[in-house]
Amino acid sequence: MKRNHNHNKCKIHRSYTVQEVAELYGVHKRTVRNWIKKGLPIFDDIRPLLILGTDLKIFIRKQRKGNKFKCKLSEIYCFRCRIPRKPDLQKIKFSQQPSGIGRVFAMCSVCDSKVNKYFSWRRLDAIQRELFMESTVSTKTHKYEG
Ligand SMILES: [Zn+2]
Repeated sequence: MKRNHNHNKCKIHRSYTVQEVAELYGVHKRTVRNWIKKGLPIFDDIRPLLILGTDLKIFIRKQRKGNKFKCKLSEIYCFRCRIPRKPDLQKIKFSQQPSGIGRVFAMCSVCDSKVNKYFSWRRLDAIQRELFMESTVSTKTHKYEG
């Protein structure tokens, strides 16, 4: 299966059914359902399942980068460490890009390289909550350090 999808195909301002996504990218519906399992966000309570163009675009872009590691909300893939890392919260910056896409810039907390990732701007609150919640946890207790 070719993974070379063109993420510019989809329009960010609309939503797509599984069938439409499959047609758009010339893949089987099963493949789209796999994408959903792998983290492509959907609207929860609506039938048929709908996928936002913005989410689709971000997801396809991540796939194309061959990012095999799934970052948690609070992690950013570090190209030097070659794994998702916690960013340094002192130097973190969030920037809103056109069309509902957000980008976060920070430094890897381990090697100090610049790291960044795209996310759906709607999830800003969730991301910030997780980042700062985890930071409190890890400074107060060292139980979960590995
Ligand atoms: Zn690093």
